[in-house]
Amino acid sequence: MKILVTNDDGIDAPGINALAEALCEVAEVAVVAPDRERSAVSHALTLHHPLRAIKVGQNRYSVDGTPTDCVNLGIHSLLDFHPDIVVSGINRGANLGDDVTYSGTVAAALEATLMGIPAIAFSLATLADDANYSQAASFAVRLAALVIKNGLPKDTFLNVNFPAKGELLSPLITTQGKRRYEGTIVDKVDPRGRSYYWIGTADLDFHDIEGSDYAAIKRGHISITPLHLDMTNHYSIAHLNSWTF
Ligand code: MN
Repeated sequence: MKILVTNDDGIDAPGINALAEALCEVAEVAVVAPDRERSAVSHALTLHHPLRAIKVGQNRYSVDGTPTDCVNLGIHSLLDFHPDIVVSGINRGANLGDDVTYSGTVAAALEATLMGIPAIAFSLATLADDANYSQAASFAVRLAALVIKNGLPKDTFLNVNFPAKGELLSPLITTQGKRRYEGTIVDKVDPRGRSYYWIGTADLDFHDIEGSDYAAIKRGHISITPLHLDMTNHYSIAHLNSWTF
């Protein structure tokens, strides 16, 4: 197996190191990751300034760009192999429900899927500094091997979330859940009397929808959500076609 590993928490994050180390046991691994935290940059691609990649180890590159930049540079320039799979993470914090649209972790997997390479995004549902990524990394190795063996449906990648702690219960195939958005802006005044606003996303507050990603990890299961590139709402086409334009 040949594997490209990236993330959005930066190349020194504990999650990417746990993932790369576990994968090294069974595969040829290259790491191309942002040089600093780039969480919530979504699918941003850097077009208006050049990118630098610093080789920080054998098959290991730190890039001053986004996760999407890293996948592009890795595949098209830096790597001396074509990966069988791209894995992103393990993210510090969950990527559930609507949050997948903000996630740099998920976007890296999306970018690989655009290139026709199977991909998985991994996230651990805790922001704790002392989080233990080892159980999640072990499962990631098994899942990567399964994806390489079985392939994925066309234009589809997997968004995997792990519960914060405890023994991981069996993986469930889930749907993308729904976040509650109330009360997420902190509105305060700074020491110089000017208002400031801070968008808060740290709390795990989702609707507990049966079969959803959130419902699975809330109950201690690993959540595996198949996502795809086509954002068309196929259900609405008949309705819109009934309009008179
Ligand atoms: Mn992140």
